[in-house]
Amino acid sequence: MYSQFLNNDAPAKIRSLLSKEVCDILLKIGNFADKKSLHVFAVGGFVRDLILNKPNFDIDIVVEGDAKSFVTELASEFNAEFKIFDRFHTAKIYSENINFDFSSSRKEMYEYPGALPDVSFSNIYDDMFRRDFTINAMALSLNSDNLFKIIDYFGGIKDLEARIIRVIHKKSFEDDPTRLYRALRFAHRFGFEFDEETNYLFKQAIKDKRVSSLSVKRVASEISKIFKENLPGTIIEQLTKNRMLKHFAQNVKIPPIEPIGVENILSADLEAVYWICFLSQMPPTFKSETIDQLGLPHSSRVKILDGLDAFKKIPNALEELTCQDHIKLYYLLKKHCIEGLLALCYFKLNKINSEKIVYYLKNLRLIAPLISGKDLIDNDIPAGQHIKNILNYITELRLENKSLSKLEELEIAKQLYSNIQHKNSFQRHL
Ligand code: ATP
Repeated sequence: MYSQFLNNDAPAKIRSLLSKEVCDILLKIGNFADKKSLHVFAVGGFVRDLILNKPNFDIDIVVEGDAKSFVTELASEFNAEFKIFDRFHTAKIYSENINFDFSSSRKEMYEYPGALPDVSFSNIYDDMFRRDFTINAMALSLNSDNLFKIIDYFGGIKDLEARIIRVIHKKSFEDDPTRLYRALRFAHRFGFEFDEETNYLFKQAIKDKRVSSLSVKRVASEISKIFKENLPGTIIEQLTKNRMLKHFAQNVKIPPIEPIGVENILSADLEAVYWICFLSQMPPTFKSETIDQLGLPHSSRVKILDGLDAFKKIPNALEELTCQDHIKLYYLLKKHCIEGLLALCYFKLNKINSEKIVYYLKNLRLIAPLISGKDLIDNDIPAGQHIKNILNYITELRLENKSLSKLEELEIAKQLYSNIQHKNSFQRHL
């Protein structure tokens, strides 16, 4: 089926699979490279997914030459936004929904197993050779003389057809043990098997404890990618089985998520939800500082720490409450981010307690006064802690199902403020 991508009419087939937007941009990149007499290719996951006819909006472009100056000139010709990453000799062009990442074709040499590679500029063959698996090591030529021709040095198309994950050379896992995690992830995503030799090399690398050379950050980055997959628990189980969760607990379980009916009203960071479940299972010896070393974005880290806190505090407190205890439920759960609450429902609580959280998320979470602090200040109530107290009081009235207009809220607020003033002057006179 996929072998048609190696025929003479493959370019026409490729063109038919590209969206007009992507096709136009790739043509511009190719034409610009023609003018500069440089070879340029789309590579990696984008080519793999194009053949599989799966959408992919992260497009990696390799230039046989200096990618940084290529992008600078290309972006100025087309008036596009771009950014250069000097350290990695890479560059990014921003288009509306698509990411274009540019790099120079390069060769990698590993001084010792697990070391970061020495990198030197080279040709497209070497750039494909340094990649992880045959299915990820194909290039799509963008120059006009070979337009949309697939360059497949290592049999990626044959392996896509045979549904196989195959390393490009024998030392692949040794050079970079993160490929062990990637191998499991791609096999899971596509439902592919390892080819016989890859399977042998995988087992050998596990036996030789290649993963022990990886830092916590590199393992965490692979786990984060696993959490983006469908049913990540199956891959985590394989990591456990192969003792690949160094730095973490050896037996972590991520059960499949059963939706609880709030998913379409919340937009949660699912990756953080899985991390909360994962880290809540760490043994007492696990150091909380390790969480700082995971290299996660600050916003995810905040959610994860909050979620872990919710795992400790919420289950017992919830036992005491029913769905009718609106005010207590609100104050208990309002402090926590939705990721922590979802993780509790998916992975920790029994059905009765989980329903209390669902009730809160559906009915109470967004309850708030119609008036704001500014409305109060505009109505001659001076700034201060009492503003917060007044707004809380009105929130509580709403939680008790009182229906109030904005005007009624304002009247109540003024009354409350006058009571507060009286009380203060009364206290001053004591
Ligand atoms: P995804 O669909 O998960 O984004 P991808 O194939 O695009 O998959 P990336 O991690 O974005 O994966 O990497 C882009 C490309 O870079 C890969 O297709 C592969 O060719 C190469 N690559 C990434 N990580 C490695 C690695 N550890 N060793 C070798 N090649 C790699």
